[in-house]
Amino acid sequence: KVTFKGYIDDIPKETDMELKLSNLELNPPPQGSAAILVKNLYLSCDPYMRGRMRDFHGSYIPPFVPGQALEGFGVSKVIHSDNPNYKPGDFITGFTGWEEYSLIKRTDQLRKIEPDDRIPLSFHVGLLGMPGFTAYAGFFEVCSPSKGEYVFVSAASGAVGQLVGQLAKLQGCYVVGSAGSKEKVDLLKNKLGFDEAFNYKEELDLNAALQRYFPHGIDIYFDNVGGNMLDAALLNMKIHGRIAVCGMVSQQNPSKPIGIYNLFNLISRRIRMQGFLQSDYLNLYPRFLEDVSNYYKQGKIVYIEDMNEGLESAPAAFVGLFHGKNVGKQVIRVAHG
Ligand code: NDP
Repeated sequence: KVTFKGYIDDIPKETDMELKLSNLELNPPPQGSAAILVKNLYLSCDPYMRGRMRDFHGSYIPPFVPGQALEGFGVSKVIHSDNPNYKPGDFITGFTGWEEYSLIKRTDQLRKIEPDDRIPLSFHVGLLGMPGFTAYAGFFEVCSPSKGEYVFVSAASGAVGQLVGQLAKLQGCYVVGSAGSKEKVDLLKNKLGFDEAFNYKEELDLNAALQRYFPHGIDIYFDNVGGNMLDAALLNMKIHGRIAVCGMVSQQNPSKPIGIYNLFNLISRRIRMQGFLQSDYLNLYPRFLEDVSNYYKQGKIVYIEDMNEGLESAPAAFVGLFHGKNVGKQVIRVAHG
């Protein structure tokens, strides 16, 4: 298993986690426990997990416990079950441990996966999992999009951003994405169907870059990064524009926050800026699953994964999120189904 060593203030490092051997007996769960024993197949690396590495209990999710395995979204196969809703051989997705096998006692938040040859199992932590749902709920519920609008997405090639851009294209919008390398910019333009994309690391002046790509302004900014990009976007929003504040991945070091100077534009341009959590919209999950699975099966969208092999690769893959190493959704393959 991969354990969490202790609370941190800075960007995560591999040494904040430790690979450990443990002797979990693969016995059936005790009778009456309603628990299931699962073999973990895919684990998701997500930026929000950084928040759980702080000793702060006032957030929407509790911190990790030092010495224990990290936990996150995964896809797992049921090995033993004391729960009538699950039987050995079922595939499930939900919270699991960063370990090869997990005993899951709280099964109420799990979702059983209906096997479908056309959809890779790992997509249930990406396209059809929490990041895909974040894109869907954030774009349709928070951004209030209309056909023909001008949409800007940051961290656009990532787990959330790549779907936001494609949903915006399906909605008839003009879409520009920013990302941190030439490879990612090429993907956005040539594989993910964005109208334009740019490498923000090569732009000396983000305001000038946004003016170049949006000479008439931005209707919707789907913000995954915060910081300087948010400040520049505020200068380029149209009147009645919307900013969905999804994430602030550039602000992971609380000792060095980046100031936002252009908030006055919220007033002068009557911009609606709204933070959201995907978990506020879970009633939409069935509709999301149906819509997005169908788009995928009909070839209307694609989804790029960055698959690392083996549990031991998980710490480096997680740390890589904060340095832009992942190209697409970062997943760890722990075992083959
Ligand atoms: P990604 O797959 O996009 O991975 C993170 C990416 O962020 C990196 O690849 C990198 O891409 C970019 N990045 C890292 N550091 C910086 C930096 N300093 N400045 C700018 N970009 C940086 O992650 P997700 O798609 O899973 O998540 C995107 C955002 O959405 C995150 O902020 C996350 O916390 C948030 N989120 C919010 C949810 C909600 O309910 N509100 C739910 C899920 C996610 P690049 O090479 O382009 O720099």
